[in-house]
Amino acid sequence: MKEIIIATKNKGKVKEFEALLAPLGYLVQSLLDYPDSIDVEETGTTFEENAILKAEAISTHYQRMTIADDSGLAIDYLDGKPGIFSARYAGLAKDDQANINKVLEDLTGVDELESRSARFICALALSIPGGKTKTVEGTCEGYIAMKQQGENGFGYDPIFIVKNLNKTMATLSKEEKNRISHRAEALEKLIDIIDQS
Ligand code: IMP
Repeated sequence: MKEIIIATKNKGKVKEFEALLAPLGYLVQSLLDYPDSIDVEETGTTFEENAILKAEAISTHYQRMTIADDSGLAIDYLDGKPGIFSARYAGLAKDDQANINKVLEDLTGVDELESRSARFICALALSIPGGKTKTVEGTCEGYIAMKQQGENGFGYDPIFIVKNLNKTMATLSKEEKNRISHRAEALEKLIDIIDQS
């Protein structure tokens, strides 16, 4: 079985990668399996730069094929915020509920759904020891809901209404999310590349 490390400690992300990669014959590990793993500072200015930093640091350290995901929410009315600061938008505690509350507060008075347009963005970097790092990006278009709804997923899923489905991401089953998400779109592109690596 082919082993691959996902360079994250985010349980929500790990579950989604497992669901997407295990059926393709990959044994998925994450930094939750390496509790003493090195800390990689996300000093990049784009999702792609941060994904590359994480993937290369972890693949060099463990000498294993590594995928890193850097992702987040970009809200048009807020000029693309929270963007690369999505995880820590409301503070360093990386508290999902506090982040949701801050976004809803930032959009107070913005009542038209069309004015609340947003997208999830996921940059993935694939680093193979001794090889050249490859990157791909996926997006998922939608709107910020007036209030949160649903219990599934993680992060901003309860306030993200998926365009065309008119439901928040957190009301979708994991199978449904994995069909339409920014991460699924990016991973689909990456799988073509992994198979050639
Ligand atoms: P990262 O670990 O620095 O890439 O932070 C990603 C952050 O973006 C997460 O903590 C979430 O707040 C948000 N995010 C990324 N992907 C998703 C998703 O699929 N659903 C909801 N929130 C997401």
